[in-house]
Amino acid sequence: MIDIRFPDGRTKAYEAGVTPEMIAGDISSGLKKKTVAAFVDGALYDRNRPIEQSATIELITQDQEEAFEVLNHSTAHLMAQAVRRIYGDALFGVGPPIEEGFYYDIATEATIRQEDLPAIEAMMRQIVQEKIEMYREELTREEALKRFEGDAYKTELILELPEDEPISIYTQGEFVDLCRGGHIGNTGHIKHFKLLSVAGAYWRGKSENTMLQRIYGTSWFSREALENHLAVLEDRKARDHRKLGKELKIFELNQEAGQGLALWLPNGYTIRKVLEDYVYNLERRAGYKHVSTPVLGTKKLYEISGHFAHYQENMFPLMSRDGEEFVLRPMSCPHHMIIYKSELRSYRDLPLRLAEIVIMHRYEASGALSGLERVRAMTLTDSHIFVRKDQIKEEALAAYKLILQAISDLGLKIDYVELALRDNEKGKFHDNDQLWDEAEAMLKALLVEENIEHREVKGEAAFYGPKIDIQVRTAMNHVITMSTVQLDFLLPERFDLTYIGQDGEKHRPVVIHRGLISTWERLMSILLEQYKGAFPTWLAPVQVKVLPVNIDSHRAYADALNERFLDEDFRSELDARPEKLGYRIREAQTLKIPYQIVIGDQEVADQTVTYRRYGEKAQTTVPLEDFVALMHQVIRDKS
Ligand SMILES: [Zn+2]
Ligand SMILES: [Zn+2]
Repeated sequence: MIDIRFPDGRTKAYEAGVTPEMIAGDISSGLKKKTVAAFVDGALYDRNRPIEQSATIELITQDQEEAFEVLNHSTAHLMAQAVRRIYGDALFGVGPPIEEGFYYDIATEATIRQEDLPAIEAMMRQIVQEKIEMYREELTREEALKRFEGDAYKTELILELPEDEPISIYTQGEFVDLCRGGHIGNTGHIKHFKLLSVAGAYWRGKSENTMLQRIYGTSWFSREALENHLAVLEDRKARDHRKLGKELKIFELNQEAGQGLALWLPNGYTIRKVLEDYVYNLERRAGYKHVSTPVLGTKKLYEISGHFAHYQENMFPLMSRDGEEFVLRPMSCPHHMIIYKSELRSYRDLPLRLAEIVIMHRYEASGALSGLERVRAMTLTDSHIFVRKDQIKEEALAAYKLILQAISDLGLKIDYVELALRDNEKGKFHDNDQLWDEAEAMLKALLVEENIEHREVKGEAAFYGPKIDIQVRTAMNHVITMSTVQLDFLLPERFDLTYIGQDGEKHRPVVIHRGLISTWERLMSILLEQYKGAFPTWLAPVQVKVLPVNIDSHRAYADALNERFLDEDFRSELDARPEKLGYRIREAQTLKIPYQIVIGDQEVADQTVTYRRYGEKAQTTVPLEDFVALMHQVIRDKS
């Protein structure tokens, strides 16, 4: 007999070889149904894995996050078995659970297409019907290699496992797979799944390796949960910024112009200009000074800053002319350091907040490029704040608050705040423990004092100092770093920055690098997806569309309205093309223009405006002056 201890401290004796499933069943049949796997002495156990020694147990039930992973990972095995039955030669790479499902990488002669997925799903359902148990075995390395003889992928994985530890394999009917474990025990427990897509993926993510075929899928505990998730995926498709960017004429990506080099179309540029003005004014009111510096810089500049040593693989190659070497800048920090040095600074001049809308270039592998999300030329709302040590906290906090303001004005939400610290890895971080300790303590204190909930992550700091990253979850469920506040004691040293203190001596300032709302490119992709292209009025490229019912008799009043709106600084357009009204309305609708104004006899006679808000059915008729006031209000409120 063995003793099983439960989380509440209770202990019960069982026969050795008892499984989590049996223990759950012993407590209640409801619990047995809901149990997916268990932690046994902290290790993840399959639902049906025998427990041979006394241990503590924590059952994993369907409502826990780990349960979703176990289910999805088990579904990956189920899919692999189905794929093997259909494509006899199929070998498998890795098949982990991911945030919203699973994938498995497959090597087979045949090309698996999207339209082949239903047949694989049908085979999976058959295997579910067969209720096949998934048995665990532990082998020595020799035995494992023998079992997977001829399977180059699993052989490679086995050779990387510790030599002296047992290697676990799982037998599921005629199918055997190498795996650490954490399964639902029987294919009969997998019920609500869907295969979603197939894509190419290099073995182990390296482009010099074989290209495998990766099938993505998702698996849930109820039909309802699966259907909800599929509805979310449908909605996301409609939000895809690449699709919307094309439909709404925001940007163009073109091979001839260059991969990852976005061209902003008139509608896109208008939004960008509004954002630029917004950021400029926000920063100006917060005491920032704006500068402008070139996209080219000398190699020397980036050698001094350390970017050339630490960041070179992300930079485009060197250019040389007349014995001088240049780089396309990947960031603006060095230029701003030089501006700081352009005059003698005193303690009274600090803080000095330099801001710039910075065009920069970073080399991204062509495979990593994705719409506006990952590009090679980008524009950052950048700033460098030069402070005395006693000003760090106040200035970092002010920068943080400015970020909050911008994120909220854009209608976005913070997912979480991350405090990125160094770890012990040598060479990765600037080597000065005292400076690091000080800087890390300051940012920590700031977050604690201000009651800012955050996660600490070791090893994620910049090479020059710790940082606060503001993470936003996009409508596509991607978590991205939107904004950042970084402390830097290193660049001031490298560039030998000084100020004259109250004591008449030279002192070193500290630099705070601050990214406000990511790059215009990244931000545009997020906003398109967030608003499904229906931008709030203050951002919309065209805010008002004036449509005369009759392009002759209503034209004069429509013209006058359009003129008036332009004078009020509204982005207004008149559509008096010789097309049917219905056609012109539908087009304004497709372009998601916030306010459509239709002008007929009544409006001309009464000097009124009849408008319809995008997304609403109701039409409202108001005096012209009321409409003008309404527009100003809506734009001011950023709604
Ligand atoms: Zn597994
Ligand atoms: Zn910087």
